[in-house]
Amino acid sequence: MPYGRIILHIDETIENLDHDYIANELEKYTGKDVKVKGGIFREYGRESTPEKIARTRIASLESRIFRSPLPVEIDVEKRMLAGKHVRGIIYDGWKLLHVMLDHLPVESIPDHNIVVTSRLIGTLEKGDNRYHIRTVLHSVPSVISTGGIVQGPARPRAYYMEDNEACNVPYMGYGDDRMSKAVTSYALQTIMWRHTGKPFCSKRGCPLYNSHWQEELIDSQVDGRLCEEHRPKLYLSSG
Ligand SMILES: [Zn+2]
Repeated sequence: MPYGRIILHIDETIENLDHDYIANELEKYTGKDVKVKGGIFREYGRESTPEKIARTRIASLESRIFRSPLPVEIDVEKRMLAGKHVRGIIYDGWKLLHVMLDHLPVESIPDHNIVVTSRLIGTLEKGDNRYHIRTVLHSVPSVISTGGIVQGPARPRAYYMEDNEACNVPYMGYGDDRMSKAVTSYALQTIMWRHTGKPFCSKRGCPLYNSHWQEELIDSQVDGRLCEEHRPKLYLSSG
């Protein structure tokens, strides 16, 4: 699907994210104009926004059941939109995506919009018996979750059972210095999806690799380089 510019909608509450670095990298790889805006719900929020977001909270990891949000839950959303950090709430990815799409201004629909949020998003696909935390949704708009980057890709069981220090693997954390690189890599996936319909690469070490483990994420999304197969594709399709 062709598009005009790349627009990044970045939540203000994400700590330690280098907006200029991400924009420059995407510009470098695609040749497209990249614009950085504030969080989508802050920029285009309406009176009903907190309630609409609260309606997409999942009640249970095992089922797609939603209920009317309690006033206190709507209040949490209001406080989050005002800049408060709240962790641990999981939203249904596809439902939240609809709310995001509903907030995008019509004139920016022809652009490639990427929402970068700290919210945790989960999806329950056909055949799944449990929600999976997602790092990225390849969609319109595309969504990258920094909470998902920290909590989505699994860590070895030993990590949870032993002293974290003993594991000796520098997993991603909140406010991590490497988050800008990881977000850039997931943004490249969404751009590849937009160009070809295929966001992933099978080669570990390429930022387009579909990482399921934290170690893979560090190798591919943080320390990775686009492989020979994918590097030219982004250049060719630029302009
Ligand atoms: Zn590749």
